Amino acid sequence: MMRGLRQVILSFLAIFGLSLAVLCPLPSLADNAPALRQDTQAKVYLVSRKARTSIKKATKPVLVKNLRFRAYPGYTRLVLDLQRSVAFTKSRKKNPDRILVSLRNARLGRNARAKLRDKEFPREIAITQPNAHSVTVSLDMERISDYKLLPLRRPDRLVVDIVPRASAKHAPRPKASATKLTSFGAAGRSFRTIKTIILDPGHGGKDPGAIGRRGSREKDITLKVARRLRDLIVQRLGKKVLLTRNRDTFVDLEARANFANKHRGDLFVSIHVNSHPRRSTRGLEVYHFGKASDPEALQVAARENGTPIENTVVSWQYLVADMLTDKKIEASLDLAWTTRKAMIARLNRHYNVVDHGVKTAPFYVLKYTTMPGILAEIAFISNPAEERMMRTNTYLARMALAIFEGLKTYVNTVQTAAR
Ligand SMILES: [Zn+2]
Repeated sequence: MMRGLRQVILSFLAIFGLSLAVLCPLPSLADNAPALRQDTQAKVYLVSRKARTSIKKATKPVLVKNLRFRAYPGYTRLVLDLQRSVAFTKSRKKNPDRILVSLRNARLGRNARAKLRDKEFPREIAITQPNAHSVTVSLDMERISDYKLLPLRRPDRLVVDIVPRASAKHAPRPKASATKLTSFGAAGRSFRTIKTIILDPGHGGKDPGAIGRRGSREKDITLKVARRLRDLIVQRLGKKVLLTRNRDTFVDLEARANFANKHRGDLFVSIHVNSHPRRSTRGLEVYHFGKASDPEALQVAARENGTPIENTVVSWQYLVADMLTDKKIEASLDLAWTTRKAMIARLNRHYNVVDHGVKTAPFYVLKYTTMPGILAEIAFISNPAEERMMRTNTYLARMALAIFEGLKTYVNTVQTAAR
């Protein structure tokens, strides 16, 4: 009796274990890409209870239903609309330098094939179907300076953002493709009216944030920049601006997110100052919410969240099934690309800015706000030269103007697209 029962349990465990192994998310291949990339991987979302039918279903190739593309100022977005989520691997090849993204067990649908023949299709990207059950997206890294892959759900899709190299002047112009791609932006449409912008000066009150060698405090710098930025937005864009704090007071992160949500902000911009144990580290980082793009990004998020690294990692897990957050992330990524580009261009007129690019990390304030948002780490207070600059009004004014230029471009782009 006991033996019989044990056997039943053992065989159940064996089958269950096997199905778990089969259903585990497939890891994406690491490559030599710089650490800035977001190495997000697609997952196979299956319910173990229906393991058998799901496995059978999963063997049928996933249809790439459609391809949508659009050029924005500074970057181009390609979206692969998928029948359901798909696992992919990523690898870097040489001669010519390219990133190969292989969608496992997928095939191109009729609409997708038609889009590939479109004259406007971004020339930096090639999509092929080498056999009946795999689709390859090839990114021409000789024409691309930066890229991001972002698998999103509900509806299942893979977002491929590329930043063409400056020399590649022949990329489709934003205006030409904007009229053509009327179907684009199903995901972002709800974020297309921008009336209220929430500015979030980091830290305050009992929380000074990072402190420099000369005693400069992050909380003072972020407030000064936020106030200047508010004035610029109100005067030049005529938008309503609310600050999560307008004085040297302590406001916890939850209250900041609640404030933004309660006041129905359409954009959320958090301003912080970076710090690094290595004093030579300097430059600018613009973050959007998501799984940390690299260990340093995770450290920045842990510090700003005031949580240990382990908890910061865990908080990302919540996100995966949240559809609202998915739409938000796509729009936030737009905001991050646009703002970073404008900031670098503006600041480079006066300074030699180190561009750490668009990064991804699970920041609390970006997670719990319902509108698209970014967090800018404007400079390193641990770097003596940057600390010195942040002590001058000229620099703070230029920084505010640089962020403003980015927001203005973003606002104009989404509002044009909404018409
Ligand atoms: Zn901070």
